Order: sequence, then C-alpha cells, then structure tokens
Amino acid sequence: MNFMCKVFGHKWNGGCTCVRCNQKRNENHKWENIPGTCKMKCTVCGAEKTIPHDWDGCICKNCQEVKDVHLAGHRWRYLEENSCLMYCHKCEQNKMGNHKWDVCVCKRCGMKRETYADQLKNGKPLLKHIWRPPLKDDVWWKESTRTGMCYLICDRCGFVWKFYSHDWKDDVCQRCGRKKEDYLCNEQMSSHKWEKIGDCRKKCSRCGIIAYDHDYLVIDSPNHLTEDSWYKYRCKNCGHEAFENSNMDSRQQGFIKE
Ligand SMILES: [Zn+2]
Ligand SMILES: [Zn+2]
Ligand SMILES: [Zn+2]
Ligand SMILES: [Zn+2]
Ligand SMILES: [Zn+2]
Ligand SMILES: [Zn+2]
Ligand SMILES: [Zn+2]
Ligand SMILES: [Zn+2]
Repeated sequence: MNFMCKVFGHKWNGGCTCVRCNQKRNENHKWENIPGTCKMKCTVCGAEKTIPHDWDGCICKNCQEVKDVHLAGHRWRYLEENSCLMYCHKCEQNKMGNHKWDVCVCKRCGMKRETYADQLKNGKPLLKHIWRPPLKDDVWWKESTRTGMCYLICDRCGFVWKFYSHDWKDDVCQRCGRKKEDYLCNEQMSSHKWEKIGDCRKKCSRCGIIAYDHDYLVIDSPNHLTEDSWYKYRCKNCGHEAFENSNMDSRQQGFIKE
C-alpha cells in the first residue's frame, strides 16, 4: 500500500477506486449498461452487476431470456383439440395444461387421473371414482372367484380397488354383492357343480371352470421306452388326440385313461 494512503487513508475522490494506489471498494461505481444483457459494468474498475429483467410477457426485452414455463407472463394456447398440452406462441415452449377432470377422467384429453396420482392412501383411493362391483363373467369376477378377494371397479376409468376379503353379512358381501357359495369350489375341488356342455366338456355352473372328460385309447405306443418315447391317445367319444411322454407323471395321476 501506498505510504500516503497508509497515513492519510485512500483518496477515493467520490468513486470506487483510490486514485493514488488503485485500491478498489465496492461502492460508488460508475455503472453503464452492457448492451443486449441485463448486466451493468463499472467503467472505472470493471465490476459487474445484474439488474432485473425488463419482461415483455415471457421474454426479456434486454437480454432475450425466456421465463420458465411455470412462471406467469406466457400466452398459453392449447396445442390440439383433444390434448391438454399447451403452447406459448411468444416463446414457443410447451407445458401440460390443467386437465378438466370429470370425476377421474379428463374430459378434454381422456387421461385417467390415477395414472399419475398416488392410488391409495391408508387403503383408500385418494380420488373420487364411480364404483361398481364386478359383473358376472367379466375379468374381475373371475379373478375374485380365483383369489377369493373382493373388488370394486371404477365405471369411468377402470381403476380397481382391491380388498383382501369380502365384507360378509349373512353370506353376502356387503361391498360387492357376491355370495359365499360362489367360493365353495375354491375350498374343495369336489364341490364343482358340473354341467355337460359338449361331447367331452363340462363346465362348473358355480365357478365357470371348464374341464374335459375324454375317454382315451392308446393308438400308438413306442416299441421300447427311452427318455422321450411318446404315447399317442385318441378319445373314443370325440376323437380328440393327445400325446404323452412315457416319463410323465400324468399317466400315474390318472390324467389319461387307457
Ligand atoms: Zn489509496
Ligand atoms: Zn468501479
Ligand atoms: Zn434480461
Ligand atoms: Zn412464453
Ligand atoms: Zn387433460
Ligand atoms: Zn375412476
Ligand atoms: Zn365383496
Ligand atoms: Zn366350480
């Protein structure tokens, strides 16, 4: 440091730089705008500072910076008729607009609300739906027969609310309306109520499962048994043919009658 400055202090002359020793201070700069930017530069010491943008909607008049899509000032329009995607015709950015929810489906773009909202909270759907029980023979009816679980389905968006057990009262589920006797088949295979539906086919009128009762005859058998020797069978009644590997357990289990 200059001796004089040490003794008498810097000589700022009302500016940012000591005229004697060139020491800088962060005050009293001589600011000048840098063209095409939102920055100013001190013509004496070269320090820079930013200044607020001068927005024309979503674009800065000085530096051309574009506002983020979530800030105000854009001129949004829908990009297409059946889409909720929006387009700013000033800065040409896109954003997802607000969906027009009709309960759980967007009226405009058809999007289902559940696809991006958390589906369940404490076992309850977060959003409103229009619930109906499974209809006889639809996929959730069959699934309920198979798993013993209780389901409600949203009629509008198809979201499925699953319950591990039915809400039984007098052998009828208070939630979905299914009867306890629908599940007899699950508990015991012998409780199917078979009805003949074809030559060798039968269907359980309770659970809907289909099974076959072929009456097979061996029509071709291997001369000597190896790892992959095959028996050929034909049903006496319907002509259905089947093959069985000589090693398979199914023969022992009585799957095929000779
Ligand atoms: Zn000085
Ligand atoms: Zn300066
Ligand atoms: Zn700017
Ligand atoms: Zn814009
Ligand atoms: Zn939408
Ligand atoms: Zn729904
Ligand atoms: Zn139920
Ligand atoms: Zn059954």
